[in-house]
Amino acid sequence: MDIKEADKYFINVYNRNVVFDHGDGMYLYDTEGKKYLDMGAGIAVSALGYGNEEYKRGLKEQIDRLIHVSNLYYTEPSIKAAKYLCEATGMDKVFFTNSGTEAIEGALKLARKYAFEKNTKCKGEIIAMEHSFHGRSMGALSVTGTKHYRDPFEPLIGGVSFAAYNDIESVKRLVTEDTCAVIMETLQGEGGIYPADKEFICELRKLCDEKDIVLILDEIQCGMGRTGTMFAYQQYGIKPDIVTSAKALGCGVPVGAFAAVERVANAMAPGDHGTTYGGNPLATSAVCKVFEIFKKQNILEHVRKISPYLTKKLNELASKYPDKIKEVRGIGLMQGMELNIPATEVVSACRDKGLILISAGANTLRFVPPLISEREHIDEMCRILDKVLNES
Ligand SMILES: *Cc1c(COP(=O)(O)O)cnc(C)c1O
Repeated sequence: MDIKEADKYFINVYNRNVVFDHGDGMYLYDTEGKKYLDMGAGIAVSALGYGNEEYKRGLKEQIDRLIHVSNLYYTEPSIKAAKYLCEATGMDKVFFTNSGTEAIEGALKLARKYAFEKNTKCKGEIIAMEHSFHGRSMGALSVTGTKHYRDPFEPLIGGVSFAAYNDIESVKRLVTEDTCAVIMETLQGEGGIYPADKEFICELRKLCDEKDIVLILDEIQCGMGRTGTMFAYQQYGIKPDIVTSAKALGCGVPVGAFAAVERVANAMAPGDHGTTYGGNPLATSAVCKVFEIFKKQNILEHVRKISPYLTKKLNELASKYPDKIKEVRGIGLMQGMELNIPATEVVSACRDKGLILISAGANTLRFVPPLISEREHIDEMCRILDKVLNES
């Protein structure tokens, strides 16, 4: 397979250089047979690693039974998946989408509809956070806090302003009579792995309660067990009004969702929103399998047990290379290592040595491995990373 030929046919929005062929557990194999330890999990998607037998069997059975019927009808996998997701999030009602960005679109529409139901004159203003990432479609891009992602695509949706993450006063300054929602990641991913402060989230919850503003927590990356609880906000003792999920929700089958508390969810009526594929039986059978396997394999417990080891090993590297590593931060199996050297160079040197890592922002390495990672994988990763840091 010739990469030059591929680049002739694809719109050029990615820098890529490996052709992967298959995966097994924590490892990926390229078309030449070279083996790579995968600590990126397809950008925090493949939580169960590659080739989980029960997951594959579930999908194959569903393919034989029924792949798609549209949302004009119910299917058993979609009903079961909705129940699992409500139980896991503590929300009351869900809507399935095909991606994360669509989950954000739906969440923003729901928040605006909720405000509209109270007051048809409400301008539906939304407060988002600096350095946030919520997706690439127009609405999600409008609330994404990185200016250079947004600028070429103006005009975006109106009524959006940006507060400083973890700064409650900066949020309060932006609140008006027309504010309908605050949207943020519980733990910022793409923007460089920044966890929310407990005090900030609690104050924000209080502010939203007082003003009846919808609090949307984007858990597309940090949710589904990655931080050691099913959703990261469960460690903060608060609940959002709307939560978005995707990435590991289907562990590789494209699926997302937004879920809301009943009071907010009820603002939507037939005709207000929809999707052709969203929540189809193939996608939702994957969601069901993911929840069932998480439970059977005690994935959350495993994340809580293994993640302190990852943090410890990353901090050891930070002490060994104080001039190259600025900081290690994160929660559970979602860690960032901020460097004083460009992250892309480290990522590509690691790839040459058989380690898949990804970056977040320009100078942060992002560690979002499959949740089935064991100590031996973390050791193997650190050996390679140590060598690369030593040479760079
Ligand atoms: C990846 C991501 C999205 C967008 O999801 P897509 O499936 O790529 O559309 C939105 N929010 C967060 C926090 C993400 O990490």
